[in-house]
Amino acid sequence: MVHTKVGNRGILFTFDELNKPPYDCVTNVYVIIGVDNYFICDTYLGKYYMRKIKKFLEDNYGSKDCIVFNSHSHWDHIWGNSEFSNDMIIAHEKCRDYISINGKQELEENISFTKENIEIVLPNITFSSSITFHEEGLKFFHSPGHSEDSSSCYDMIDNTLFVGDNVDDPIPSSMDSNDLDKYLDTLNHYLTYQAHRVVQSHGKVIDENVIRSNIDYINKLKNNEFMEFQSEEVIKKHKDNLKFLNID
Ligand SMILES: [Zn+2]
Repeated sequence: MVHTKVGNRGILFTFDELNKPPYDCVTNVYVIIGVDNYFICDTYLGKYYMRKIKKFLEDNYGSKDCIVFNSHSHWDHIWGNSEFSNDMIIAHEKCRDYISINGKQELEENISFTKENIEIVLPNITFSSSITFHEEGLKFFHSPGHSEDSSSCYDMIDNTLFVGDNVDDPIPSSMDSNDLDKYLDTLNHYLTYQAHRVVQSHGKVIDENVIRSNIDYINKLKNNEFMEFQSEEVIKKHKDNLKFLNID
């Protein structure tokens, strides 16, 4: 686990367990040091990792309550929820539904990535459009794109946007929804925040230009434009997207 300071009150915890085939990517847990609470965006692969983060926070920033946010239902973002079953776990209502429908199966399919026994714990507070913690300067809002249940977090004090799996550099990857118009709406909405930095789940902190390049890519997908990429990694992401969308 590596940690990186982001802006004035963000810490990005980066993990390597999925950085091997077939996933080949790092995975982040983003924490915002709030006034009264730690806001923990996604819970990665289980309690073991979340306890490390909690210890780091307590050692460096003292004791505060934890409020968890699930950016979406996918297994690599929610297995650590069980460490927080007595805390608030907030998510979009579809995220809770999807975890309750698919959580067990996703766990079975990815059992080789478990370090301990995983108990699937559902979000206990849901929203349909958005929820704002006014005193903490944080807004969580529905942002369908990568998946129907994806949500994001806007830190209005630091002007930082946490986008989960919705943005990837240089093109979106592992698409799990074929509603490209909704995806474009979400990405264009992101630009209205004029965020100083964008935090994604599977890579480095980026800026708005990556959102623009993701918009450009989806527009080209929509128009069936031919695209060519140099790096093997990007070619694979593109092929996986075409396969998911049933485009030859
Ligand atoms: Zn995902």
